[in-house]
Amino acid sequence: MRLILFFGALLGHIYCRETFVGDQVLEILPRDEEQIKNLVELESEEHLQLDFWKPTTTPGQTVHVRVPFVNLQAVKVFLESQRIAYSIMIEDVQVLLDKENEEMLFNQRRERTGNFNFGAYHSLEEISQKMDDLVAEYPDLVSKVKIGSSFENRPMNVLKFSTGGDKPAIWLDAGIHAREWVTQATALWTANKIAADYGNDPSLTSILDTMDIFLLPVTNPDGYVFSQTKNRMWRKTRSRVPGSLCVGVDPNRNWDAGFGGPGASNNPCSDSYHGPSANSEVEVKSIVDFIKAHGNVKAFITLHSYSQLLMFPFGYKCTKSENFEELDQVAQKAANALKSLHGTSYKVGPICSVIYQASGGSIDWSFDFGIKYSFAFELRDTGRYGFLLPATQILPTAEETWLGLKTIMEHVRDHLY
Ligand SMILES: [Zn+2]
Repeated sequence: MRLILFFGALLGHIYCRETFVGDQVLEILPRDEEQIKNLVELESEEHLQLDFWKPTTTPGQTVHVRVPFVNLQAVKVFLESQRIAYSIMIEDVQVLLDKENEEMLFNQRRERTGNFNFGAYHSLEEISQKMDDLVAEYPDLVSKVKIGSSFENRPMNVLKFSTGGDKPAIWLDAGIHAREWVTQATALWTANKIAADYGNDPSLTSILDTMDIFLLPVTNPDGYVFSQTKNRMWRKTRSRVPGSLCVGVDPNRNWDAGFGGPGASNNPCSDSYHGPSANSEVEVKSIVDFIKAHGNVKAFITLHSYSQLLMFPFGYKCTKSENFEELDQVAQKAANALKSLHGTSYKVGPICSVIYQASGGSIDWSFDFGIKYSFAFELRDTGRYGFLLPATQILPTAEETWLGLKTIMEHVRDHLY
């Protein structure tokens, strides 16, 4: 009997979706350096299996951490003993996951008889189908470019928006971190928006008459599928590293920009593991190769969630870039445009000062490569739901983000170099 239970549990672990019943996300507010030190110590306790959604940075900045149910008591006792202030941000993670899953199934049934719903989360297959549909619907403007394959051999398909000829280009990607679902959804909405608005919106029309746009909605397809079928909290790629049982690399610590420096981990089991070498992840390497081969990319924009930030280089070092003033002004203008729609506030600045020093990130690589308009968005929210943003917020998020994106694209169009 015991043996059957053991194998049952083992099989359940291997084949079923991971559950997060009773897990809570805590919002912690460290008030001084001493408490920061305590939180860093807490973070290093691997057996607690803590999942830092928003990492420890400086006193007065909130920290968000998902705590597995079995370790809740221990963590709360620790925080209270150190007099570190905290509150419960998400009462039971699984409740939100069940709701999200139910909504996705409901939407799938509805879409079988009706139109595609951009205000829902979709599977990789559904996203791919919609991309093909856009190519079919707007053949003069939209085409599909396969830039490579993921570790598990899924195609990496980019949508190219072009009015003809080879123009200077804008690169836009989403979903390099698997669990940041609002980014893949926002990218797909944006693809449809670009296709539908060309010839109707004078600003976008003039952008596309001057430049091509390349849009990669699912940068980490293996991770995305895994986050939908096995573990909703998955962030990394799904590559295997020889000599470790842990799977995956943080693809946004894997770029050749200060690789292996501060803000990245050399532990293969860490969620911010930088990988064995720069560009070790085929998903990263495919983008690098594509951009180098293209040779005329003028802007590189990447979508992450969450925290409501609009950032620019650098992350791997804390010095100002030579065009800091210009990037800061453009980002401020973009954040203002974004805010004008629903009042959503973004914080603007270089990665190093807005979050923390983080090496091996994509926009540092693109900037050092010579793409002087390099930006990273962290979309909604600031922590009520974090990565589990309800689908009802997809459309408002995508709509407001579009205003920010367009502001940046207009600036690039008017400052071609
Ligand atoms: Zn991210």
